[in-house]
Amino acid sequence: MKEFIAILGAGESGIGSAVLALMKGFNIFISDNGRVKPKYRELINKYNLPYEEGKHSFNKILNASEIIKSPGISEETEIMKLVRQKGIPVISDIEFAWRYTNARTICITGSNGKTTTALLLYHILKKAGLNVGVAGNVGTSFALEVAEKKTEYFVLELSGFQLDEMYKFKADIAILLNITPDHLDRYNHKFQNYIDSKFRITQNQGVNDVLIYCLDDEVIKKEIEKRNLTSQLIPFSISQKVENGGYVHKNEFNINLNNTPFNMSIQELALQGKHNQYNSLAAGIAAHWLKIRKDVIRQCLMDFKAVEHRLEKVLKVHGIEFINDSKATNVNSTWYALESMKHPVVWIVGGVDKGNDYSKLYDLVKSKVKAIVCLGTDNSEILKAFKEIDVPKVEVKTMTDAIKTSYYLAKNGDIVLLSPACASFDLFENYEDRGKQFKRAVRDL
Ligand code: ADP
Repeated sequence: MKEFIAILGAGESGIGSAVLALMKGFNIFISDNGRVKPKYRELINKYNLPYEEGKHSFNKILNASEIIKSPGISEETEIMKLVRQKGIPVISDIEFAWRYTNARTICITGSNGKTTTALLLYHILKKAGLNVGVAGNVGTSFALEVAEKKTEYFVLELSGFQLDEMYKFKADIAILLNITPDHLDRYNHKFQNYIDSKFRITQNQGVNDVLIYCLDDEVIKKEIEKRNLTSQLIPFSISQKVENGGYVHKNEFNINLNNTPFNMSIQELALQGKHNQYNSLAAGIAAHWLKIRKDVIRQCLMDFKAVEHRLEKVLKVHGIEFINDSKATNVNSTWYALESMKHPVVWIVGGVDKGNDYSKLYDLVKSKVKAIVCLGTDNSEILKAFKEIDVPKVEVKTMTDAIKTSYYLAKNGDIVLLSPACASFDLFENYEDRGKQFKRAVRDL
């Protein structure tokens, strides 16, 4: 009898895993509690995948010998509680797909900057002519790539939720960007659980593997001191020089690995802002480690185009620059966005607050923000946090109103920045929808 695998969630990761599992000779069944999107329905038809939607058939699912779970499905759902009770092994799509590839893996995790760093590194490796794919939380499903192609290198963006269901997986090169509190609701409100989850990126690594990490991040630094890691540790910093690793000093961007130096001016970097210096250092170190030619690395760090919804410059209208940073869904990412602004800012902020500590933004808001436009159903925390700062504060309920108000408040040379520090689910479908509405409203001015 063929082994039976149940797949929970018929999205990118679930459908990809189903295709790969079928190809490898398993009996499979996909179950999704919601509606399957047309894109995935097409793949279901193409590969003739058995599935259900709008429900979970407990009896069937609980007969599986292994379950591949979409990272979006919470442990609090009834089906997951039953699965745990029965003790069926649960893995993520990444763990599953990794069993069937010999590709070298470069894996990126952290609270912020994962997608940017993953796409930047992918850009470099692709330009260098490697047979490389980008997957995980970005691009197509890792499992589908493994099923359909013979790829030699994978850049994988991994969220904590994916890492939580990975056990034997090993990253050949791991990148740990930063750890700041986020999604704590999914970690029993214990920061240490969240830290442990991110550190799973180092699991199973040995002396031939590499951990590239941010030395300026106190949480990461402390955790590394605590742990007995056997991998080669390569730090990066923008506040101190490091001997073997990467750093920014006096506006110069440096990478030095095994006494092979690489440097360029930070003005030449395509991605501006301190946060992007970190991202560029991380991607640059990984590329340098893989012995990519320096001129290719330099060129790619110079010509990379910002990713949509991440400090994306949209348009200038009468000298007012509109920037879409809709993906900034926590305080830390908004901190870096504000920090990188070089002109007075009309700041559009708000949405679903995940327990934000806005006081971290106070000094930056005081020095850079000339007006605050609150775009959320409940803006009370924001208004309270910045009460003492004497700038106009306006509450709006639609993106069109946010843009019209901001346009009115800004003048030639100013910036209108959407960097909400909050999730989007009160007024929008998701952060992409929020960012797209922003761009549409700007273009309609
Ligand atoms: P992720 O994939 O981890 O969510 P993204 O690359 O999509 O990260 O960026 C999300 C947001 O975080 C963006 O708004 C961006 O301005 C901000 N950001 C990007 N890199 C960093 C970083 N290294 N540190 C802090 N914030 C960052």
